[in-house]
Amino acid sequence: MEEVAEGVWLLRGDLRGAMNIYFVEDGDGVVQFDAGTKAMTKKAKAAGEKLGGIKRVVLGHAHADHRGTAPALAAEGVPVECHPDDVADAESDASIAPYMDLSQLPIVPVRWIYSVLLRRWDGGAVKISGTVSEGDEVAGFRVLHFPGHAPGLIGLWRERDRVALVSDVVYLVDSARLRPLPEGEASVPHPAWAWDHAKAKESLRRLAALEPQVVGAGHEPPLRGENLRETLERAAEKY
Ligand SMILES: [Zn+2]
Repeated sequence: MEEVAEGVWLLRGDLRGAMNIYFVEDGDGVVQFDAGTKAMTKKAKAAGEKLGGIKRVVLGHAHADHRGTAPALAAEGVPVECHPDDVADAESDASIAPYMDLSQLPIVPVRWIYSVLLRRWDGGAVKISGTVSEGDEVAGFRVLHFPGHAPGLIGLWRERDRVALVSDVVYLVDSARLRPLPEGEASVPHPAWAWDHAKAKESLRRLAALEPQVVGAGHEPPLRGENLRETLERAAEKY
């Protein structure tokens, strides 16, 4: 585990270590932001314990590779929360969201690989015990609603050191080819995954306008820079 910003730890796991779970210090324990994949459950629990205990889980969004560890934590009584617009998908058995269209991925075998992987990554339906919305506070961060890739996609923003934890608002991976983007590059998620791709681009531009210095995304290590505005604005135009 790596401390990526003051009081923020990153646990990387599963495929190429590309799946991210963040732990944010909150009093004597931590809030877990995003829930990675099912295979990360043991490590996530151990990491949370080491940091004083997981007080609650906040999902960046409900996709299979972001809710994977949540059902096991919920079963132990840890509250799991998300944005109201992603509750239905989080509580659904479907590993592939109804709006995803894998046929838009240009490489045919990649479509098959994802349909297998998404089921493997998924921890299944999770009971949502509460919701968080734009403007709410989570462990010293402000909740921002970034709809597009998912209807209820949220990020956490901390103005004082310009840290943004944003789940899949931005990709540091080339999902169409199942590989990381070159270091320092970013992209709007591929439209194959999008609930509303035009809104996903708009949300990424909103993130750019915040001029963050650390962007902790859902996959791959954080993006860092004095001012990431230009990188993120360019990323919004990739698809
Ligand atoms: Zn996603």
